[in-house]
Amino acid sequence: MSYQRSNGNGCAHFIVGLAILYVVSSLLHEWFVRRTRIRIQPIAFFILILVALVTVGLMVYQIIRLVSHVSEQRRLKAAICPHGMAGGATLSLCLACKAAAEEARREAELQIALAERRKQIEQQWRALLEQQIEVFEQTNLKSHGYLLNLTPQRFEDAICKLYRALGYSVYQTPYANDGGRDAIATKGKRKYSIECKRYARDRAVGRPELQKFYAAILEDGSHQGLFITTGRFSKAAVAYAKKVDIQLIDGDNLMSLMSQAFPSASTVYKVMCRECGEILKFPADVGACSRTCKSGHQTRNPFADSTLDELRALISKRSPAKYVRGTK
Ligand SMILES: [Zn+2]
Ligand SMILES: [Zn+2]
Repeated sequence: MSYQRSNGNGCAHFIVGLAILYVVSSLLHEWFVRRTRIRIQPIAFFILILVALVTVGLMVYQIIRLVSHVSEQRRLKAAICPHGMAGGATLSLCLACKAAAEEARREAELQIALAERRKQIEQQWRALLEQQIEVFEQTNLKSHGYLLNLTPQRFEDAICKLYRALGYSVYQTPYANDGGRDAIATKGKRKYSIECKRYARDRAVGRPELQKFYAAILEDGSHQGLFITTGRFSKAAVAYAKKVDIQLIDGDNLMSLMSQAFPSASTVYKVMCRECGEILKFPADVGACSRTCKSGHQTRNPFADSTLDELRALISKRSPAKYVRGTK
């Protein structure tokens, strides 16, 4: 009963086994003393039996191991390698088999090293691209034409980036339903509401737009409003802005702020070959083109004809097939 209940429990099995052994050993002890008249304590007799059993068990185990080892060796010796040698591959007796095994090991090591290198190139490629996209953006933000070609959302992003670079903390409002301002900036203890309009150079922001913005400034409780445009301001708008203390930044002011925030400009873009890791240089003024690295892989210059969004999409693209074209 108790044996059934403890089924599956090794410790309980052991104790039950020991108890049974003890009962058997006491029966044997009686028989032994009667038969031989040698006086021995039942517990000592039990320990002797135990030791004898363990010794025999170990010996049997060793014999089984030896037998299985010998039969395994026989089996290995009987196996004939592709070059017709018994035990040639299994016991490394055949030189050709030995060389092939060594070659396979080296090949496997090479594959591991190659995979590691690929991973490394991929990381470096991504890091360089990210850094060069930042350079690309900073270089282009100083171009009026570039700003005009941005989508309204990317233009808002650009203005926020500008004010961050000028030392403001900037909170960008959602693109839709922005409550009449595109961002809220703070510097020191002062809070600013920011509104941007991407207008053609000769298109003017009028007084009604400033009035709408002023309502937002009051709602935000900002110290001042910053109205930024790539175009200009009408006379009425300038007069109104003076009255309600809105700072106006027209296209020319914006360009000089951009130059102040992002003084460096790149004349060369670096692009890593995604296959081998070689860095290729593309002058900023060349058009769309590809370059071939020393290993013969072709790498396209993405900076000639891509928008910022397209460049950023490259980073998240997993497959190199779209970006690196053709492997010679
Ligand atoms: Zn062989
Ligand atoms: Zn290459």
